[in-house]
Amino acid sequence: MLEKMVERFLEYVKIDTQSDRDSKTSPSTKKQFDLANILAEQLKAIGLSKVSVSIHCYVMGTLEGNLDKKSKVPPIGFIAHMDTSPSVSGADVKPIVHKKYQGGDIELKGITIKADENPELSRYINCDIITSDGTTLLGADDKAGIAEIVSALEFLQTNSEKLQYGTVKIAFTPDEEVGRSTEHFDVKKFGAKYAYTVDGGESGEIESENFNAAKAVWTIIGKNVHPGYAGGKLVNAQKIAAKLIGMFPHEESPEMIDEKTEEDKGYYHIYKTNGDVEQTTLESIIRDFDSGNFEQRKQRMWNWHNELRRLYPKAKIELVIEDEYKNMKEVLDKHPEVVEVAVEAIESLGIRPLRKRIRGGTDGARLSFMGLPTPNLFAGGVNFHSRTEYVPIKNMSDAMHTIVKIPEIFAKRYQ
Ligand SMILES: [Zn+2]
Repeated sequence: MLEKMVERFLEYVKIDTQSDRDSKTSPSTKKQFDLANILAEQLKAIGLSKVSVSIHCYVMGTLEGNLDKKSKVPPIGFIAHMDTSPSVSGADVKPIVHKKYQGGDIELKGITIKADENPELSRYINCDIITSDGTTLLGADDKAGIAEIVSALEFLQTNSEKLQYGTVKIAFTPDEEVGRSTEHFDVKKFGAKYAYTVDGGESGEIESENFNAAKAVWTIIGKNVHPGYAGGKLVNAQKIAAKLIGMFPHEESPEMIDEKTEEDKGYYHIYKTNGDVEQTTLESIIRDFDSGNFEQRKQRMWNWHNELRRLYPKAKIELVIEDEYKNMKEVLDKHPEVVEVAVEAIESLGIRPLRKRIRGGTDGARLSFMGLPTPNLFAGGVNFHSRTEYVPIKNMSDAMHTIVKIPEIFAKRYQ
């Protein structure tokens, strides 16, 4: 079973599925179909029904449950993404299996996975670890998730005499790395009541909280006059922008936060400033787990806006704040069994569940607000979007067994 999962994983990572931020099409790159079509064939071979690949490159399929027809157990979904990050090449991936890792640095072509920078490596002594050859990313994000889901489904199917489970739905999506994986996700067609994304993280991790997020764009319009004759006339938009930047509380910027000890702290962040005397724009974001604090942060920005307008009556100062995504906790709190079952599944394997907060967004957050409560489960990999990305096979095995357990636990709960 394990060997076959690894074999699948090694097959998937060799297929280039990099997504493209600048593309306007869906999927953002055609090559994602190369993997989608292979997966659809494999799902059919395992015995899934209703297997489809949509025109936007979403693979879906159903593993029929084996419970009594009257059973009320809800259909449960598992989701992983097929694309890899545009930040590092995902072409010609040459995965290396390091058998029985003996500790210390892992030397790859032109790059080293350093033991002192990766203290978690010490947990994997005597484990088999997979990396790329060092020239590309590996793509365990999220092809480990795909291999685990496919293998878990095969496990359920081949053990259907022994195990009891309700209907399991699966979806493999394109374009997660460019933030568009839910754009054409048909929640109704998917047909699950709850789902789990299987994406990233070490054994035991479960994420059911993410930031509330907004984007705030400031436009400052000044007045340009020849500096030789500018007395009392020139209004320098850049100087107003400098004043504005000074209003952002320095202690609440991302670079001032220690994520290890201040995991729950939100921030303001200016990521782009562009301008001249006549017009300066400043693009910023607001992040906070707590929705009350989040609203207060927005209000605070409106206060700066008022203050600037008072200080610079001759300039035109505009602020547009747009919400980007919300904390899925809001939805998941209404369906506590989703996370409870995942925790129970992880514990049943003798693994310690690690509840984590995502200091960013996630597919699951969007899906949760689209009516499909979806926390995130670990897929086992480390150092995503990097040439030092790696995945211990043990973590993949843990993830696969967690996926098998979840439908079983749901079946028991509803009997
Ligand atoms: Zn991912």
